[in-house]
Amino acid sequence: TVGDGSAPTIFDKIVSGEIPSNKIHDDDLCIAFRDVNPQAPVHFLVIPKNRDGLTQLSKAREDQKALLGHLMYVAQELGQKECPGGFRIVINDGKDGAQSVYHLHLHVMGGRSMQWPPG
Ligand code: 5GP
Repeated sequence: TVGDGSAPTIFDKIVSGEIPSNKIHDDDLCIAFRDVNPQAPVHFLVIPKNRDGLTQLSKAREDQKALLGHLMYVAQELGQKECPGGFRIVINDGKDGAQSVYHLHLHVMGGRSMQWPPG
């Protein structure tokens, strides 16, 4: 179902600590934690702490550009550390993008040789 920004998702509970996660990063703006259903030997998610309308990338507002940059910067910092051979960053957006959780998140995957095109 496509989120409308009103209903909290499971990621809000991960941010608040109500649901445990394997966290690998925590700063003022975002956290990163390991995906519960990893698609690669390394697979973690980078999410804003405050969703603030960012149910999905395509809902981004102009005043959120710095936050978007921060999320990408943190993703590559952690990606380099965890996957020295390279990594892939994915953002699924909407139904056709295979998005399932409507709280913006960057997937970072690596630890194996990735295929392209992804299908
Ligand atoms: P999406 O399909 O929305 O891009 O990706 C959502 C991701 O969140 C999936 O890869 C899924 O495995 C992950 N995920 C869903 N629920 C949880 C959870 O409770 N904990 C963690 N760590 N990951 C989750």
